[in-house]
Amino acid sequence: MRTIPSPVRVAIVGAGHVGSTFGYALLLRGLANEIVLIDPVSPDRAEGEAMDVSNASPFAQPTRIWAGTIADCAGAAVTVITAGVAQKPGESRADLARTNAAIVRQFAADVARHNPDGVLLVVTNPVDAMTSVALEASGLAWGQVIGAGTVLDTARLRELLGEHLAVDPRSVHAYVIGEHGDGAVPVWSQATVGGSDLAAVCVGRGVAHGADAFVEIERRMRDAAGSIIERIGSTQFGVASALVRIVEAIIRGEGTVLSVSTPARGAYQLPDVCVSLPTIVGRSGAESVLHLPLEPDELRALRRSAATIQETVASVAEADGAAPTAAR
Ligand code: NAD
Repeated sequence: MRTIPSPVRVAIVGAGHVGSTFGYALLLRGLANEIVLIDPVSPDRAEGEAMDVSNASPFAQPTRIWAGTIADCAGAAVTVITAGVAQKPGESRADLARTNAAIVRQFAADVARHNPDGVLLVVTNPVDAMTSVALEASGLAWGQVIGAGTVLDTARLRELLGEHLAVDPRSVHAYVIGEHGDGAVPVWSQATVGGSDLAAVCVGRGVAHGADAFVEIERRMRDAAGSIIERIGSTQFGVASALVRIVEAIIRGEGTVLSVSTPARGAYQLPDVCVSLPTIVGRSGAESVLHLPLEPDELRALRRSAATIQETVASVAEADGAAPTAAR
């Protein structure tokens, strides 16, 4: 089993809203001895954010926090890529994907050169396609490159179900799979609360269940990012917490099941691109993908979701002049 180098270093590429908030949340959790923020496009921002987060360390844990260069990824247990641009008004998702693919491709190759043994965690959107791009560009092994995938969508679903039932969301076991964002697929058929069937718990708690109630919860889960961005311009706290959870599972070697993005490798006869599925996450990154007994409509939705990811991967590969290659 892979050992985590000591002192434990986490490198963050991209010191924007997500990168810097994640750095702060990571400090509070006390998981890393060293946190380096890297942002070649906005080095001043990386420096300012690193100084600000570092000021919190006397209230949290002794942690070395600095603004560095890509060479500082060397020896990091996990490198998290959050660099990228946001969608501009009128810009298509395909154009956004092409711009971010060029950024992710370059950083993934650079990170792998400096740190061939660490785990690479991709956050830049569209995250499932960007994870495929990073895997290809880095040449790293299956499992070593993972995407934040639908970990945040899953948290949102659990939060909403917890609120609906007046139950602790940590006792709600429900996964969102497929593509992070518009094409995300909530797996209603396998949702349980403390091991009990979701509909039965709804009846027991005297709350609505069945198609209408779940359609509304699904709509709120899907609209969550848009609703936040409309009000404050970006999302950061939820995603930063999701990233801390993923990085914690890796550094502590927990074997936690999280819906990260990894190559489908034939699961559900999906195209061989990165797609989010419940996956055991430990020291090496993704260790194995679990198979859910999906209902036919869930399987169809998952295949549609994976086809969208495949189209995006193909379009960014064509723009790059390369033939789309199968994900490892
Ligand atoms: P932001 O604009 O605040 O920060 C992006 C950072 O990337 C900036 O500091 C910028 O300087 C940096 N960067 C580094 N190299 C760059 C380059 N070559 N070109 C452009 N920028 C470069 O954005 P953010 O809100 O932090 O979001 C970062 C990414 O994370 C976006 O792609 C966003 O969509 C994504 N995101 C993903 C999830 C998820 O669950 N996967 C959730 C939220 C946001």
